[in-house]
Amino acid sequence: MLAKQKAKRILVIDVDVHQGNGTAEIFKDNKSVYTFSMHGEHNYPLFKEKSDLDIGLADGTSDKDYLYLLEKNLDQILPEFNPDFLFFQSGVDVLATDKLGRLALSREGCKMRDKIILKLAKSAHIPIVASMGGGYSTNFLDIIEAHANTYRLAQEIFF
Ligand SMILES: [Zn+2]
Repeated sequence: MLAKQKAKRILVIDVDVHQGNGTAEIFKDNKSVYTFSMHGEHNYPLFKEKSDLDIGLADGTSDKDYLYLLEKNLDQILPEFNPDFLFFQSGVDVLATDKLGRLALSREGCKMRDKIILKLAKSAHIPIVASMGGGYSTNFLDIIEAHANTYRLAQEIFF
């Protein structure tokens, strides 16, 4: 997209419970891509890469604190970086029921997370691509519902 000049400033919002270490490493010297990762500080990877902004959360972080930090940081990044394209890594391994994730979001909290991000894109008129990420709950319904919520919300907000 950058090479074809379809976008000039891309913001990657990675809210999978695992740090967005791949994108952080790939784009570390690229000022056209801002990497924002909100993840479990004690989740894999043990040695984190450096994103443009990393918010490493304590074990057991739940809806209220999580959503507060997400909104607060997005409210700062958007006017500062002024992206014209968004990539949204919408992993649902932030759920309290997740086997690997160390955070404690409810399904409703996870849905609110997605709503905040999608509404922001809509209101700022920034195109967004959402890609699914992890989900390792023993209860498959939790994973399926949480992933489906992302796309239900997208439909609701954009169409
Ligand atoms: Zn993950």
